[in-house]
Formats: sequence, C-alpha cells, structure tokens
Amino acid sequence: MNLILLGAPGAGKGTQAEVICNELKIPTISTGNMLRAAVKAGTEYGLKAKAAMDAGDLVSDDIVIGILKDRIKEPDAQNGFILDGFPRTVPQAEALDAMGVQIDKVVEIFVPDETIKQRLSGRRVCLDCGATYHVDFKPSKVEGVCDACGHELVIRKDDQPETVLSRLKTYHEQTAPLKDYYEAQGKLVTVEGQENVEDTSRLTLAAVKG
Ligand code: ADP
Ligand code: ZN
Repeated sequence: MNLILLGAPGAGKGTQAEVICNELKIPTISTGNMLRAAVKAGTEYGLKAKAAMDAGDLVSDDIVIGILKDRIKEPDAQNGFILDGFPRTVPQAEALDAMGVQIDKVVEIFVPDETIKQRLSGRRVCLDCGATYHVDFKPSKVEGVCDACGHELVIRKDDQPETVLSRLKTYHEQTAPLKDYYEAQGKLVTVEGQENVEDTSRLTLAAVKG
C-alpha cells in the first residue's frame, strides 16, 4: 500500500506515519528528515536546501523530487511506503504520477492554524536521532534530553514563531491545493486531529484500512 500523509506543519503527520508504519510494516519516507540529514552531512543539496528550510520556505521541487525518486527505489520501499511531507506542491504530485507511482490513499490530518501555532512553539527535537517531543503534550522523561538516545533536545530553527507563520502561509498557498488534486482522483480521506494523540491514531488507522 502506498500512502500519502497530508497536513499543515505540526498537524502530527510524523507521529501518525509512525503509527501506520508499525501497523502495516511499511517504511515512512519523510523528505523533511532526509533534507535535515543532508544539511547535517553538508552534502551539496543539503547546502542548497538549508537557507530555504531555515526561512520556512519550500526547498525547490527539482531537489526534493530527485531525492524522493532515489529513495523509493530502495529495497525496503518495494512493498509500499508512507510519504510524510511529500508531495508539497502540485508539480511534486504531478512528478509522482509521471514516475508511475500508484497512490492508494491520501490521508489529510486536519488541525486548525491556532492549534498548530501552539503546538509548534512547544515542539522539541533531537538533532541526533530525529525523535520529537512537546513540552506540554509529549514531554521527554528528563527535560531537554532525548528518551531514545540521550542527546540534547532543541527548538528547530523553523519552529521559531515568525517562521511558523510563514510555513503556515506556504502550506495554505502551495500544499493545500493538493487536497483538490487528490479529491479529484477519489483518494482523499480527512482525519480531524484530536487533542489526544491516541484518538487521532485510531481515526487514522480506520481511515487507512477503511
Ligand atoms: P513540517 O511538516 O514540520 O513543516 P518537515 O520536516 O516535513 O516539516 O519539513 C521541513 C522543511 O523541509 C520544510 O519546511 C521545507 O523547507 C523542507 N521540505 C520538506 N519536504 C519538502 C517538500 N516535499 N518540498 C519542498 N520542501 C520540503
Ligand atoms: Zn535522540
């Protein structure tokens, strides 16, 4: 099964991707995580992507489409995958169609902007393993320390308040049109993000299996 998770930054796509991954045993492909790894490794496309990411803008379609194309050729992706954070523009969705990738379902996690702003301001991430936490909703056992690997937790540069506003604007302008794109293909299912993560997960799994 090939799935796409759609939703504003901070809607909880990453968390839901993990839930589906555990249930269906198919890998999550997160272009955000791949780009952050490239930035950290200082690769050529990492250097190009960094400025856009720090500003809350999208990385250019050709870079992102290139890394996605390579990633889905990997052996672990041959029985299906969950795309988290891709496609984010109509040209990216068209590129996926042009590659001949059959998408079974597009699950939109819907969360209102006000909730998003509150969530992102409390988000903390481990720069080492990529695990995410929230000071109120999903605190680490020891403040500022990753439960999974023991490294330090930080606020992502793009979670700074001004950057959050520009990421939301970018989402509404460039990514939200994908809802119509996939609605027209009869693939869109919307899940309302709940206050409680487990409730959202239950709804997401029902949407995926239904
Ligand atoms: P979030 O969903 O929290 O905004 P991601 O981790 O998915 O964050 O992505 C972080 C950043 O990486 C984005 O703000 C953007 O700059 C870049 N990025 C990730 N995926 C894409 C994509 N498909 N197209 C363009 N830029 C992307
Ligand atoms: Zn960690």
